[in-house]
Amino acid sequence: MELPFQIAEILERLEGAGFSAFVVGGCVRDALMGETPHDYDVTSSALPKEVERIFGGFRVIETGIKHGTVTLLYKGISTEITTFRVDGEYSDGRHPNSVTFSRDIRDDLSRRDFTINGIAFNPKTGLVDPFGGEADIRARVIRCIGSPGLRFSEDALRILRAVRFSSALGFRVEEETALAMLSRKSDLHKVSAERIFSELKRALCGKDIGRVMLEFPKIFAEILPPLGEQIGYGQGSKYHDSVLYEHTARAVAAAPAEPALRLAMLFHDMGKPLCRSVGEDGECHYHGHAERSAELADGLLRMLKCDNALRGRVCNIVKYHDIPVDTSRRYIRRQLSKHGLDGFRDIMNAHIADDCAKAEFVRPRIEEARRSIALAEEIAEAQPCFTLKELAVSGRDLKGIVPPSPLMGDVLAALLAEVVEEKTANEKNALLDRAREIINEKNKIDKSNAESL
Ligand code: ATP
Ligand code: MG
Repeated sequence: MELPFQIAEILERLEGAGFSAFVVGGCVRDALMGETPHDYDVTSSALPKEVERIFGGFRVIETGIKHGTVTLLYKGISTEITTFRVDGEYSDGRHPNSVTFSRDIRDDLSRRDFTINGIAFNPKTGLVDPFGGEADIRARVIRCIGSPGLRFSEDALRILRAVRFSSALGFRVEEETALAMLSRKSDLHKVSAERIFSELKRALCGKDIGRVMLEFPKIFAEILPPLGEQIGYGQGSKYHDSVLYEHTARAVAAAPAEPALRLAMLFHDMGKPLCRSVGEDGECHYHGHAERSAELADGLLRMLKCDNALRGRVCNIVKYHDIPVDTSRRYIRRQLSKHGLDGFRDIMNAHIADDCAKAEFVRPRIEEARRSIALAEEIAEAQPCFTLKELAVSGRDLKGIVPPSPLMGDVLAALLAEVVEEKTANEKNALLDRAREIINEKNKIDKSNAESL
């Protein structure tokens, strides 16, 4: 395993001072899979104070001193160095009551969650792999270190970590581990919303999320109860060839792998069971479900402590995910003025993902949605004004022409509508002229109204 020179030097310095030191966890796993690690975690027998002493000339931040973790800024990179430790009892299903530092790497590896994450490496000793992690990487298996039931009862977040790694790496979950995840799932309520949401987002963006959602429906329903209603829910609609939960899983997997779109697809049909009606032909309809789904999404994302920007973006996608697909310029310009280019692209991408998860005959619509994205990009490039902010005149420019509100707001809205419809150019002089015309028109009408009274 090749190490960046800084990491190799950090290990050498620690060893030079008489300690043992390894890279560990995700970076070893990724390297064994032939991928370049995104960061390197170092674990060492040195205590935090000893690390501070050894790296005297460098900045050392006490990031998690209670758990033996410091962050070292060394020759342009930042690395976490954690002292070998064993965790004491867990009584709350989240944190160990105490941690004890150790001088033995094996102790440290045994507290880690999965065999694939319990491998250490050092250029002199090579791999330290007491739990068969390398073999499990080769067999593409997620397996707990030690007794799965015990490991999940210590920290229920590990249930979601197993889901996340299975989705992100495309590994299956070993049977005993999978059974323990299910029997311990109610402990997820003990875990903080922030930790859950962070793992959920990463699970959703994994390449195997479709399979993983179908394998662990009850775990997804545990964190998002309305998903439970979707399991086994027949949709009674010719557009659909699967039950609602499976449709959701397929739609999530079909969306671009970024949190906003994947979350939007997770929520997009949550309101359906609340909106069902049956037509005369026996077909089920779900009028208003997009709006109901957006309301549910809003509440659940607040519960998960999602930041406002992401929550707003997701809810907007959910609310408008089933607007018509129409490739007329007029329609697209209207949508652009309502949602902006990014917002419209999101909505069409959700539409595409949704259609990918429906019956075969719906698929031709996908091409049309793609075309409408391309058209929207073209329109936005040629004429990038869709909101008042982008209009070439502001209220201040119109002061001498238009009396103050409420008329000012009306005139600005009228000018924007004309620009969006490509009737007037988005240029200051052209818009000032149009404002004068609008006011003249209005005065004429007012005058004739007054005369006719
Ligand atoms: P990535 O950085 O790609 O998410 P990672 O394996 O490095 O993957 P981290 O969350 O960064 O994951 O954790 C680093 C290591 O710490 C893991 O590889 C694992 O050994 C250990 N670890 C992290 N969280 C837990 C946990 N909840 N229980 C036990 N061990 C854990
Ligand atoms: Mg990591």
